[in-house]
Amino acid sequence: MRNEKTETPGILGIDIGGTNFRIGVVYEQGKTANFRKIPVRSVFRTTDPMKDLREYIAEYCQNMDIRTISIGFPAAIDRERKTVLQAPNVAFMEGLPVVQYLTDAFHIPVYIERDVTMAVLYDRRKWSLWDQNMLCGFYFGTGIGNAIVIDGVPLVGRNGTAGELGHIPVDGSTELCGCGNRGCMENLAGGKYLAHLCESVFPDTPIGRLFLEKGEDPLLQQFIDRMAMTVATEVNILDPDCVLIGGGVPSMAGFPKERLVERILVHTRKPFPAQSLRVIFTGDEEDKCVIGAAEYAAMRMKRMN
Ligand SMILES: [Zn+2]
Repeated sequence: MRNEKTETPGILGIDIGGTNFRIGVVYEQGKTANFRKIPVRSVFRTTDPMKDLREYIAEYCQNMDIRTISIGFPAAIDRERKTVLQAPNVAFMEGLPVVQYLTDAFHIPVYIERDVTMAVLYDRRKWSLWDQNMLCGFYFGTGIGNAIVIDGVPLVGRNGTAGELGHIPVDGSTELCGCGNRGCMENLAGGKYLAHLCESVFPDTPIGRLFLEKGEDPLLQQFIDRMAMTVATEVNILDPDCVLIGGGVPSMAGFPKERLVERILVHTRKPFPAQSLRVIFTGDEEDKCVIGAAEYAAMRMKRMN
């Protein structure tokens, strides 16, 4: 594929999800060129995922002037941001030294980060939140994604696993979580739980119509309240400047955004941070984490200078 803007070096942004693989080049901040979204399995076809990834990138980047690679994963990543640690949705990447391998292959800087961090950095640009010191992003999809960005820098934690908010324990729940613990919030306040409700309680309602048809049902109200508790827990601990809420669940038809905010405020400490809480519902853009990956790379490069 030809690059029409060869005079400007680009950042290659990649978003590797459980289902889809998204890739694009960011020449100009906030925009992708040559964006592709393909099934993740069409990239990782052999038993050697690093070789598959290298070959796909090499083919994609032919005739392009790419100076940096930045990849987001739905995964826990080591503190140094070099290796994917634990990735239930892309298990074939677990334990792989992605940064070392791709740096050796392409001889350009390579960065990896959690996809939710990429999402917050994208939203920071989209909503011009440059003067907001602390951003907390909550992305309710199948599970619960959370990232905390302080002064433009993502919170990493001692082991690299800060922001695993989906795994706060819920009193009384014994549900087994993908992380190995029992009773994690993620299984009660994420899309997985909605799918479970459709199967077991509302078999005649397609999941996409759940809030339209059953929004007033106590089970759905309880679900919204659990989402609110999740957000309020972090808000009460961190007192962030801005809360970003996104992901597939809040984008569903009929999703009660006002009610969610109302319930977040119920569970948030008074008078502060409740009184000045700023909540933004973000979009679910296709190239969100690809652009966010470029934002992340730019942030890392800036910090090195
Ligand atoms: Zn868990």
